[in-house]
Formats: sequence, structure tokens, C-alpha cells
Amino acid sequence: MLISGWGRFPVINTRVHTPDSIESAASVISQTGALSFRGNGRGYGDCSLNNSAMVSALGLNLFECFDEDSGVLVAGAGVLLSDIVDSFMPRGWFLSVSPGTCFVSLGGAVACDVHGKDHHVSGSFINSVEFIDVITPDHGLLRASPDEHADLFYATFGGMGLTGMIVRVAIRLKRIYGTSVNQVTTRCANLKEVMECFEHGPSWTYSVAWIDCLQRSQRHLGRSLFMGGEFADEGRETGAGLSFSRKKKLSVPFDFPGFALNSMSVRMFNSLYFNRITSRQKRALVSWESFFYPLDAIENWNRIYGARGFTQYQFVIPKEDAEYRLSAILKTIASSGQGSFLTVLKLFGGSNNPGASRAAHDSKVHWDDYEQRNGGMLSFPQEGYTLALDFAIRPDLFALLEELDQMVEQCGGRLYLAKDSRMSERTFQSMYSGHVEHFLKVKKRYDHAGRINTLQSQRLGLAIWFNRTSHVGYQ
Ligand SMILES: Cc1cc2nc3c(=O)[nH]c(=O)nc-3n(C[C@H](O)[C@H](O)[C@H](O)COP(=O)(O)OP(=O)(O)OC[C@H]3O[C@@H](n4cnc5c(N)ncnc54)[C@H](O)[C@@H]3O)c2cc1C
Repeated sequence: MLISGWGRFPVINTRVHTPDSIESAASVISQTGALSFRGNGRGYGDCSLNNSAMVSALGLNLFECFDEDSGVLVAGAGVLLSDIVDSFMPRGWFLSVSPGTCFVSLGGAVACDVHGKDHHVSGSFINSVEFIDVITPDHGLLRASPDEHADLFYATFGGMGLTGMIVRVAIRLKRIYGTSVNQVTTRCANLKEVMECFEHGPSWTYSVAWIDCLQRSQRHLGRSLFMGGEFADEGRETGAGLSFSRKKKLSVPFDFPGFALNSMSVRMFNSLYFNRITSRQKRALVSWESFFYPLDAIENWNRIYGARGFTQYQFVIPKEDAEYRLSAILKTIASSGQGSFLTVLKLFGGSNNPGASRAAHDSKVHWDDYEQRNGGMLSFPQEGYTLALDFAIRPDLFALLEELDQMVEQCGGRLYLAKDSRMSERTFQSMYSGHVEHFLKVKKRYDHAGRINTLQSQRLGLAIWFNRTSHVGYQ
């Protein structure tokens, strides 16, 4: 079948297996040569694609058990976060860490070690998981946690599905007492003002900013809407079940023509969006859907970028000199005229994985000397500002993105693999240096022949011994 990531670039023709039990998944894996794994296809680029065979986890979609005292849910890796929200939110439970769409699978959330609007409080997905079960090519089904096969655990979070098929996840949910969110939106004239909100404003559990990326003048560069939010707690007193509903979705029925998206239409959209808030600050009680998952309201929204598809460019850079560095990056984007409707800024916290740093002090954990505070070995988050922008695929895009790569690299930053479809091996190895060697050592332990690989892993040198043995970077 023809298949792609959410950005619809690149598209490949391959075989997709969808086993409906862990046993049949193990059997497919043992009988297939080169392969990759797939969740709900919300990764943007080529991170799940393999030209020979792909194994989808969507058939492993059962809730297995839930402990009402601890909030720990054990479920198949093909369960979507939306299934968890629909079933558990009315009972007063929500995801401890959630990305900006709930249409991702548990396995995909683990493989990308996803982050949410509360990274500064909750860390990334690894921090909400007790254990995972993974089918590895060399050792079959294994349970991995900070105490058991810890190397596999930390390599699998952020490991882009390259260590084995995640088949079961034990995730800790958090208690909530309301389904609405108290949201405060602050209008910020420029980058300085929005950074002030992130660093010195009231401390919100959830925070994010939308940026108008086509403003060029120094005065308005980075003008934005900063949104801080807290769950309302209307049910705390009564202990009653929570009111819960989902809005009916709109749908984009066809691919927009290429000319529909140009710097003028993006400029118009940005201006309308920014000016919908007329006062300095607006307080509102909004639904969980509109606060956490605004894009989920529109089905197939990826079609607005046209049939050639699009890519999302997401990077993180350290806090030091961030205003100066982000200004330079935003100016480069604005001058290219290749702006994006959806430009999102967020401040990541310092500790990606407080749980793992505790585990590092536990004498039972003996594996390498990896700094476990980083979460997974290839996890994306690090302390600093992360900016995400969508770009339609067009011939002059790649030169712009290479220029941005250099700027991000010079700041000591890195790109997010879940969004990538074109980064070079050199850039990746430099941005993730110190992490790649640890990861490859562990991958070799569980997949010595490198059977699991994707277009992305081949491009980035994460499948090196598979084709190019002379470049092997592990022991
Ligand atoms: C609108 C939108 C908003 C987003 N917002 C955020 C955000 O705020 N924060 C964030 O971190 N991410 C965000 N993302 C990215 C998304 O959360 C991740 O790409 C997520 O991993 C997608 O999950 P999936 O089930 O669709 O996985 P897929 O796209 O199918 O696969 C993604 C990766 O996971 C691997 N994988 C999937 N399932 C398994 C499995 N069972 N076993 C082994 N490997 C597996 C694949 O091989 C691939 O490498 C967003 C994406 C979209 C479309």
C-alpha cells in the first residue's frame, strides 16, 4: 500500500502487517527480514517508513487493567491517547503527559518520548510510564523498566521504534477534578515580551505560545499570544463524575491547490489570529479539547498544504542567549517568505526525567554511564526554548532548512526526530553526539543484524551496520 507520515512527504509503497495479538506480532517479526513499526502515523516524516515491510501496532488496542488507587493503566501499544481520554476523563483521570494531538498510539508516544505543554512540570512521556513490553528481534518479548532491562527502556524512549516492537505500556494517569481549563491569553508585542511570560510570569502547569513568524521589524519580531492554563476543579467538592463531551469534527475534503498557501495568505491568517485578542489579557474557561488539542477539531488538516505535502521543523536551543538566537532564526524565516500558520513556542524544563535520575542512584541500575536525566537516549527535550513551524514542500525549502540547521547547531540545539524528513546524517550526529554511541550499543544488543530500520534511520546513520559496515560506531 501507499503510505506516508502525517506530512505526506515522502510517500512509499510497502507491505503493512497488522497483527491482532502479541503472539502473532512476534510471529510476524520472526518471519520478516527488514522491517519497521508503525502506530497511528502522526509522526510527520519518514520515521516509521520501511520499503520492505512495516508492522502496525494498531491491532493491539485493548485496555488490560486499571488500578484506581495508583492511576496505573496497562494497555496495548495500539491504544490511542484519544481512547484513554474518552474512557478515563469522565472518571476524573487524564494523561500525565500529552502531545498536541490525542490521535497518537501509546507505542508512538513511547518511541518518540513525546512532550506536552507541561514539560517544565512533568518532563516527557518516559516520566509517566512504569514499564513497557517490547518484542526484540534477538531476545523476543522483554519487559523493560528503570529496574529491568534498563538499557532497553532508555533506548526505546525516543528510540524511534528501532529497538523492537512496543506491544504493551503501563502508564500512570493523573487525577483531575474538572474537564474545562482556565486559560489566560496574553498578547505579546514581541519575542522579549513572550519570553518574559515564560520565565517570569505566573507559574502555569500548562503553557505555550503561538508566534506570528512573518513579522520582520525589530519591534514586532516574534509577536505572539501566550497561553497559560490550569484544569478547573469544579468536581473537587462533589466528587461527582465529570461532564465530558467531544465536539463534532470538521473535515478538509480535498488537497488545497499549491497557490492557496503563500506568504500573503499566511500573513492574513496570522494577522486575524493575533488580533482576535484585543485587550492585553483575556481570561476564559475553555474546553479540554480546544486547550490541549485545537488541531484535532479538523480532520485531515494536513491537506491544506497541498498534494506535495509539508514538513514540520521543530528544534530546541538552550536558554542562554535565546532571545538573540531566536530573533536571528525568525528573521531568516520571515525574509524567506516561507512562513507557517502554526508556529509554536514552548519553554522546556531542566529535568526531562526526574524519575530516571532517581533510578540512577538505585544500585540495581547498572548500565553504561549514561546521564539518565536526559530521559531516553535519543529523547528530544533539553532545557531551553523549542519552536515548531510547518512548511509546505517546495523546491527552495530545503536550502532554507539547511541554513536553519546550521543556526540551531551553532546554538548547541537539536531537531526533533518525530518531525524530521530531511536532516543530514552529519547534522544529526553532531546534534545528538554523545547520545548516538550509547544508543547504537544497546540497539546492537537487541537487534544485532539491524533488521529494524526506517528511511530515517538509514538517512541518519542509525542503521549503519545494516548497509555500511565500515562506518560502524559501536564496539
Ligand atoms: C497535530 C500534531 C501535534 C503534535 N504535537 C506534538 C507535541 O506537542 N509533542 C510531541 O512530542 N509530539 C507531537 N506530535 C508528534 C507525535 O506526537 C509523535 O510523532 C507520535 O509519536 C506519533 O505517534 P503515532 O502513534 O502516530 O506513531 P507513528 O507516527 O506511527 O510512528 C512514530 C514513530 O514511533 C515508532 N512506533 C510507533 N509505534 C510503535 C510501536 N508499537 N513499537 C515500536 N515503535 C513504534 C515508529 O516506528 C516511528 O518511529 C504531534 C503530531 C501531530 C500530527
